Amino acid sequence: MLWLFFADGTRVLLKQVSFKDSPMNIVKTVSANGLYTLVINETWCKGCRICADLCPTHVLEMIEAPDRWEGAIVKVVNMDACNGCGICEAECPDFAITSYAPARGKAKAAAGKESA
Ligand code: SF4
Ligand code: SF4
Repeated sequence: MLWLFFADGTRVLLKQVSFKDSPMNIVKTVSANGLYTLVINETWCKGCRICADLCPTHVLEMIEAPDRWEGAIVKVVNMDACNGCGICEAECPDFAITSYAPARGKAKAAAGKESA
């Protein structure tokens, strides 16, 4: 249900929303050493390939998906090469990819030095 709330505490039901027919397709991949995790929301990925192009260690690849806006969807193909830099997460315009790393701040600083 989607409610519109007013300052005086009243509310109006705008719409009944059901997510039952459109579940999120979440794909989680963990590196073999258990340190790094990528979570991709395939429902939100439009296939722009920004993350795959920017990943410094070629963890991500695009595969054909005609139902996507850009005709492709991102997949993890080499999880063990992930260094947890978080570039994919930071640059995805659709918030479709999340990167988890134990030392994210340190990894980001190191990535910045390399590219400078
Ligand atoms: S940047 Fe985001 S929307 Fe674009 S391909 Fe990667 S996960 Fe999908
Ligand atoms: S966290 Fe960095 S290394 Fe890992 S997939 Fe994303 S961009 Fe590539």
